This record gives sequence, C-alpha cells and structure tokens, in this order.
Amino acid sequence: MNQRELFFRHVAQTSAAPLALEIVKAEGSRLWDADGKEYIDLIAGISVCNVGHRHPRVIKAIRKQLDDYLHILVYGEMIESPQVQYAKLLTDHLPGSLDSVYFTNSGAEAVEGAMKLAKRVTGRTQVIAFNQSYHGSTQGALSIIGDEYWRRAFRPLLPDILHLEHNSLEAIEAITERTACVIAEPVQAERGVYTPSKAWMQALRKKCTETGALLVLDEIQTGFGRTGTLWAFEQFNITPDILLLGKALGGGMPLGAFIAGKDIMGHLTDNPVLGHITTFGGHPVCCAAGGAALKVLLKETLVQEVKKKEALFIKLLQHPAIKAVRSNGLMIAVEFDSYETNKKVIDRCIAEGVLTDWFLFAANCLRIVPPLTISPKEIKRACKVILGAINLRSLQ
Ligand code: PLP
Repeated sequence: MNQRELFFRHVAQTSAAPLALEIVKAEGSRLWDADGKEYIDLIAGISVCNVGHRHPRVIKAIRKQLDDYLHILVYGEMIESPQVQYAKLLTDHLPGSLDSVYFTNSGAEAVEGAMKLAKRVTGRTQVIAFNQSYHGSTQGALSIIGDEYWRRAFRPLLPDILHLEHNSLEAIEAITERTACVIAEPVQAERGVYTPSKAWMQALRKKCTETGALLVLDEIQTGFGRTGTLWAFEQFNITPDILLLGKALGGGMPLGAFIAGKDIMGHLTDNPVLGHITTFGGHPVCCAAGGAALKVLLKETLVQEVKKKEALFIKLLQHPAIKAVRSNGLMIAVEFDSYETNKKVIDRCIAEGVLTDWFLFAANCLRIVPPLTISPKEIKRACKVILGAINLRSLQ
C-alpha cells in the first residue's frame, strides 16, 4: 500500500473527505507536498503557527531541550526549567492578577481544567457559554460548545450549562449568584469571525464581578498576536479571572494552559489534593518551543504588522460574489452565499497552491488565518488565487 492508502486504511478518520495532502516540508508561510508542489498556508494549522512553520529560534530551543531531557514525571512535581521560564515569561506579559499557569496538553484540556476550577472556587455548578462558540471536543468542552448538531449524538453531557447569544443583553441578565463561570471567546472564531462590542464585553466583566461568577476567556485561537494585540482581551480593556491558551502557545508543539491568580489556582491543591492531574501537560520540549516562539513575537514586529496585513487582505478581497469579509487582525472570514460556492473556491485555491478551508460553524465562509509571518507578496498572490477561483466557480 502506498502512503495515501495506508492513511485511509490505518489512520482513524472523522470526515468522509479529509484534505489528504501529503505535506513533506513546511517553512515560514509555505508548505510542500510529496510531489514538490508549493502551497501558501492560509490556515497555520488552525491558528497554531503564528511565528511561521519551523521558526529557527523555535527549532533551536527544541534541539537544546532534546539534549537535556524529555519527560521526567507527571506535571507539577519537578522543577523543570522550560516550564518555569515559560510561566514567568507568560505572566510577565499578562495583567498582574493572572500570575499562575497550569500547563495542559491541549486547548480542550485547558477548558476542562478551567471549568473544574470555577466550580471548585465558587461552589456553584452553572456554566454559561455561547451559541456558535467552539471550545474543544472532550465531553466537558463539548458540553459548552455552541452548536447542538455537534452535541446531540453524545448526550448526556454535563448538566447545568446555559447557552446564550454572544453580544446580547439577555446573556448579561442571565448571569446570577448561581453562575460558576461564564466562558466566552473574545472573538468568535468558528462562527466566522464575529467580534462583540467593547461595551458588551465590559458589561460581561462587570456582571461577573457583581455576581461572583468567574469570567473565563478562551484565547486559544485569538492569543499570541493573532488579532493585532498580544491578547485579544486587551482590545476591550478587561481582564478575565481565568485565561485559556492553546494552539500558538506551543510554537508548533502541543501545549495548552489555563491561567488564573494564585489565590484562585490554589483551590486545586486541596479537597481534593491534585485537583487536576496530567502526565504530559507542560512537556519540557513543548514549553521550550513555546517560550522561544513567544520571544520571537515579542522581539520581532510580527504583531505590530498584523493590522497592516489585515488591511491588505481586505483591500484586495473585493468581488461581487463575496457577501462579507469579517476580520479581527489576521483572522479573516470571507463569506459566500453558500457552502457549495465556498467549497468550489476552496478546492480551486488548493489546486492553485493556496491552502485554506472553512469554519466549523460557518461552512459558507473561507478561512484566512495565516502565519503572522506571511509577506505582502504572499498575501497578494493568495488573494489573486482566491479571486481567480471565485471567477472560475461558475464554470465548474
Ligand atoms: N477553544 C477554541 C477557541 C478553539 O478554536 C479550539 C480548537 O480549535 C479549542 C478551544 C480546543 O483546542 P484543542 O483542539 O487543542 O483541544
């Protein structure tokens, strides 16, 4: 069997039509397949490779850690320098109230940890989440994602979850002394990039404070400069009680985190002791890679250039078939009339060497979430291919 046949035979599939491109090399904002074909990457592994694929500083940090040690013991027992240094670096660039980092393996595990922590701290059970928000695929995270299509087959899920409309007054009113936490994305990514108003986010913060509910912000997709500021919550002048990170956190390696104040996080140390356990969370190689990637973001001008690159995409993506372009930094949704149109455009883009896809809760929207390293030249080329694909779609 060739590689493709083995992929379909032995690698578990969750879709009838996976992309099934065999990528053999990735560098910066480009990918190459087994036939040597080059692709401009507009997905970045779904908001993971913010500093580009295989950034030399990330590779160097990984190599160094490989020479020192890999896994030693379950999370939190040993003083592992990559973990300690990364926690310090992260908290140095967060508001002072977010000073304690629990590293996990993935975004979903960070969501799970945060929900447990909120219940433990408040002694309450209700979790408020939002329609068309995505938070992960484990059963707790699945319980709070905002689309019944994905939840239905796996019920019963967690009880006492309230799903409300993002950016709605109704949601603010629903938060009470019964609410353990409110979990929100600062920008709803998988809905097709929807940014709530600043006033709403501030009202959310205020109501949580008044009722004693913890505000959990899921920056797993929006973090690390994606929206033009290091953290998207900065744009709303608010601070969450718990911050969720993942994706770009590991610089291309698997890593998640929930971050809170030491006083809040301290509840995981008793009743029960070891309130959250993970074997591999905060793996030294992943922390070394993530720390190096964050240093790249802080040192280079990638984050400062996001808004300019966003503006270039918006300027170039003009076509009567495009119904809307919604964006927040280099998180851009190009909306078409239907999934069918979008699929034709996406297929053509991939054939022409531009890798893109759609959003989980917005199948009619084309995803543009490239590495922040994408150059103006690559942006122009990608937009030319997208517009060409739109023009060709009616002939297909
Ligand atoms: N939260 C958001 C906003 C996400 O976009 C994702 C993944 O796409 C997750 C949570 C879950 O992260 P993971 O896939 O690492 O479990």
